[in-house]
Amino acid sequence: MMTNFFQERNGTLYAEEVALPDIAERFGTPCYVYSRAALTAAAHEFHTALDGTVDLVCYAVKANGNLAILNLLARLGCGFDIVSGGELARVLAAGGDPAKTVFSGVGKTVAEMEAALHAGILCFNVESAAELSALAATAARLGKVAPVSFRVNPDVDAKTHPYISTGLKENKFGVSFDEAQMLYRQAAALSSLRVTGVDMHIGSQITELAPYREAAEKLLQLVKALEADGIVLEHIDIGGGLGVRYRDEQPIPLTVFAQMLRDVFAGRSERLFMEPGRRLVADAGVLLTRILYLKPGASKNFAVVDAAMTDLIRPVLYEAWHPVWAVTKNAAGNEKIWDIVGPVCESSDFLAQARPLALREGDLLAVGVAGAYAMVMGSNYNARPRACEVMVDGDEITMIRAREKIEKLWESEQILQK
Ligand SMILES: *Cc1c(COP(=O)(O)O)cnc(C)c1O
Repeated sequence: MMTNFFQERNGTLYAEEVALPDIAERFGTPCYVYSRAALTAAAHEFHTALDGTVDLVCYAVKANGNLAILNLLARLGCGFDIVSGGELARVLAAGGDPAKTVFSGVGKTVAEMEAALHAGILCFNVESAAELSALAATAARLGKVAPVSFRVNPDVDAKTHPYISTGLKENKFGVSFDEAQMLYRQAAALSSLRVTGVDMHIGSQITELAPYREAAEKLLQLVKALEADGIVLEHIDIGGGLGVRYRDEQPIPLTVFAQMLRDVFAGRSERLFMEPGRRLVADAGVLLTRILYLKPGASKNFAVVDAAMTDLIRPVLYEAWHPVWAVTKNAAGNEKIWDIVGPVCESSDFLAQARPLALREGDLLAVGVAGAYAMVMGSNYNARPRACEVMVDGDEITMIRAREKIEKLWESEQILQK
């Protein structure tokens, strides 16, 4: 159970060498706790399994953009995949290398394009003809040449939750294969653009290899067709989306993924890029929360905790299942079936449903596999300040984001003068 980095010892849950109750005592709850060793191990696993196959692992910042995490991943050799000017600024503030940063997203503004051109990013993953025109004009105005790759939509079913499936032709993402060739010709003819690659991203939390293989094969056909047209690419970016185990999923082993890439792209000289988000950070974090009240009832038992959908929205938004662990074993308690709910005034405010646990008021719970798409999706609904985040490294604890101050919430608001 649990992971190598969050383990039970003598009835208490630890993050590396630190007992979670010590963190709750010192920093309060709700609190995100990350393991530096887990992050390091995940980055090493990518670099080892994909060594000689994938040249650049661009961490998808949107999975968890804390500066400490970005900085650590940069030091571990990662580039970045960004989807906004804000994420670009985060990468730069964290000491990330713009020359290893790719810019994805369907709605890049001119201001964001300008910032990325000034920073000197590796490439723009362009998602429409209209965006291409805007980018060409912006680069020309600045006297710059924008490196361009098109995100193509391979129209494959990634067999994941519909909200996180992106590679079907009815999704808003990417350009179709039919369109792509014409757009490449257009881009190649413009002096403010330099065609450098091709990109795809077919969805998230994918646990089947077949959709990746199918999409990669389609991508290769396009690369060959472009080559026949005189357009030679420098890189092929196969996107992110690799799934993790929340409950009983079987993630694709990275070595198997690497072998698939070697099979499909055998004999090709383009550099391969990847854009993993979740797989690099999900296992490295837990959300620590305290039980405020127990409300056993006739039809349901509720454990009301101090974390809410404002801290972790995945269960509500994606019907996601996260493991919930009692931080301290309650030997005396009887197990009951509990819904773990937050204080927010919404019936959908739950972190977990129907969990057999022995609980007492005041107990701590840890919501597992909460390193990705968790803190980063936090909100201030119900005027709730966002949780603090700490990084554990062996027996050391560093606060990497302070708990938000209540006054900060209305700092930029203004009362009418009359
Ligand atoms: C979200 C996203 C990723 C990362 O997805 P994961 O499922 O977290 O690996 C990669 N590339 C693009 C373009 C994305 O939007």
